[in-house]
Amino acid sequence: MNSKEFDNYLESIGGLVNAYKVDSIIKDRIYFDFSDGWLDITKDLIEDLIKLGWNKHIFQAKEKFGGGRFYIGSSSTEMDERIMKWEEQTYKTCEECGSTIEVETSASGHGWIRTVCSSCRKT
Ligand SMILES: [Zn+2]
Repeated sequence: MNSKEFDNYLESIGGLVNAYKVDSIIKDRIYFDFSDGWLDITKDLIEDLIKLGWNKHIFQAKEKFGGGRFYIGSSSTEMDERIMKWEEQTYKTCEECGSTIEVETSASGHGWIRTVCSSCRKT
């Protein structure tokens, strides 16, 4: 899934709600502060959370120290567990291309910690 497809997905569900400013609807992939490789698993996460009764209020979705972070408003134990599962998945999924083969979290030459597959690491 690329950025455009993710935008279309957000549009199709009527967007998410900015938990800091609840009259602000999030329909833009730019709000998700990580690369395209994680968009597929993030779409799955959003779908599952909605099934669990999530009101779609979101504070932040970003990459930090090579892993995904996804902060929502009020949540249930099931929702927290589903988000933890997604966070674990981000450490096994290349942030650039979405591959799950030979994925490692390591520091780049600039000291930036990233989770990428072996072929993306070379480029
Ligand atoms: Zn890759």
